[in-house]
Amino acid sequence: MTKLAETITERRRQTRNSIYQYMFFSDTPHSKQEIASDLSLSMPTVHQNLTELIEAGLVRRDGTQQSTGGRRAMRLTIAENAHFAIGISVTETGLRFLAANLRMQEIAYKRTQGLPINEIDDLGRLLADELEKFLDEFGLNRNKLLGVGIAIPAVINVERNEIALAPTLHLKDISLDKITKYLPYSYYISNDATSGGYAEWFTQTAQSCMAYLFLEIGVGGAVLLNGAPYEGQNRRSGEFGHMCVEPNGLPCKCGKRGCLEAYCSTARISDNLGITLEDFFEGLELQNPVYGALWQDVLQHLAIGINNIRMALDCDVVLGGYLTQFIEPYLPEIRRLAAALNTFENKADYIRLCRYPMRASMLGVALHFIREFMENI
Ligand SMILES: [Zn+2]
Repeated sequence: MTKLAETITERRRQTRNSIYQYMFFSDTPHSKQEIASDLSLSMPTVHQNLTELIEAGLVRRDGTQQSTGGRRAMRLTIAENAHFAIGISVTETGLRFLAANLRMQEIAYKRTQGLPINEIDDLGRLLADELEKFLDEFGLNRNKLLGVGIAIPAVINVERNEIALAPTLHLKDISLDKITKYLPYSYYISNDATSGGYAEWFTQTAQSCMAYLFLEIGVGGAVLLNGAPYEGQNRRSGEFGHMCVEPNGLPCKCGKRGCLEAYCSTARISDNLGITLEDFFEGLELQNPVYGALWQDVLQHLAIGINNIRMALDCDVVLGGYLTQFIEPYLPEIRRLAAALNTFENKADYIRLCRYPMRASMLGVALHFIREFMENI
């Protein structure tokens, strides 16, 4: 792979970038003619830029197109494996590592076994060591690594370079350096739910406004407005888990009562019962009456939360997090319950399931580097 010339004028760089972005956002490969016509550029301009991009190893010929007779037009697409980024998820039960290529396809994934994070003395050392092991184990070329994103269930104060609060990790007011100080790569830290929402939002065809409700042990979310996460004055926007859905209701990990998280956390239907989520949903299908009543209560409060989000923001609500793997059969019921609460609508088609139930936060935080790369070619 050769490097792209950096001495070109800004105008030429913008043209090259528009061609690259056009291919980046296309699911199918394109011919030079299509690119020239769709971007209103001359054929010599397109040809010259594509030659540079191909020589730099960033665009490749795509051999999958069938000939329809006549002269076969060469079709081109981005070289998705030219670079990759890593997303790391820090949760109370351990670390997860994911490598994604430029098409956001997962090329490697690993989780550390049984490491209660709050019992680790030096989280930064552990994270850096495990990252190196991950790179070695999957033979990932460090020269192609764009950067390392870290998704963490925490309110992060960027100005003070601190984790302000991470209840599930039992961390408060600690410096981010404790996590990043041994990393020899570019890194970026973000809240896990914000990262997950960002991955969902970025891969939608129409990137409009969206609220993302993240359903795992912790319940959180993100608000995506006009192309970027809306973070709020204190970076606490989208903390849907701590909306009150039942005054004086069940106790929440945050110390208050009646929060959405207290009702819709995965812990309520797995850890608290001493069973797995799979056990719970199997039992539910077999009509276990205790599970049935509990699930109905989860759904009722979930619907209250979703309807409140809809009332405040009037945008689609996308359900994410690993609970959503099990939710599809219950989506009609969730929509029915939410619609019944709504003053303005009698249908709740605005509720959708996410595209990445399992690894959205890691993909989203890795995407920070992929997007930066794509925008700066
Ligand atoms: Zn709470």
